[in-house]
Amino acid sequence: MALSDEELDRYARHIVLPQIGGAGQLRLKEARVAIVGAGGIGAGAIPALTGAGVGHLTIIDDDRVELSNLHRQPLYAADQVGERKVDLAARFIGKRNPHIECRTIPDRIEGDNVDAILSGHDLILDGTDNFATRLVVSDAAVRLGIPLISAAAQQFQGQVALFRGRPCYRCFVGDAFDTDDCDTCAELGVLGALTGTIGNFAALMAIRVIVNIGEDAAARLFLFDGASLTWKSIKLPRDPNCRACGGDNEACS
Ligand SMILES: [Zn+2]
Repeated sequence: MALSDEELDRYARHIVLPQIGGAGQLRLKEARVAIVGAGGIGAGAIPALTGAGVGHLTIIDDDRVELSNLHRQPLYAADQVGERKVDLAARFIGKRNPHIECRTIPDRIEGDNVDAILSGHDLILDGTDNFATRLVVSDAAVRLGIPLISAAAQQFQGQVALFRGRPCYRCFVGDAFDTDDCDTCAELGVLGALTGTIGNFAALMAIRVIVNIGEDAAARLFLFDGASLTWKSIKLPRDPNCRACGGDNEACS
């Protein structure tokens, strides 16, 4: 596979970077990334991944646009309230970068469809807003051996982490949330500009993973406080009793 003259021009500011170059841009073109959730985080990540030339994007979301989404989800417009988010995201991607193959899945990810939806991808970016779905996605990522970037934002706080098997997202949050389907964003509120920051950071992390730039960020939680404007990161420990990645489960070693 090679880059066309149009692609060489389109990605010129990437290709000139020694950490990316032509080889890195080809890696981006070949990459298959599943984006779970086209809400605030997804709407921050999708434009960045589209612009970067990630060649195969799968967008999974069963929601339709609501007026209260518009303060944080710049993929959608006021006259699109009521339309399916995956359709609008695909239209955006097609207009922005015709080199990207976009697949849309207007379903909610659940235990009985998650493996079929996520298998075959090189990377999963989860920006959903409830713990139950996040845990379903994380357990599947461990089973399928696919790296997972998990990103979340509420009120003024954002967090992003990359998981590669052990430790996994379940090690981090535990089992208490499996049946908890609360929409914390709706209940607690979120600063609109924060979701874009966190979604974009998650996209940056995805590009680092795909191109293999810098030190591996796995098992480290990056926290942003939008009120004090501070970033910090902490190392995430493995839970030896984790039922997804712990014990003798070889799938994620
Ligand atoms: Zn675990």
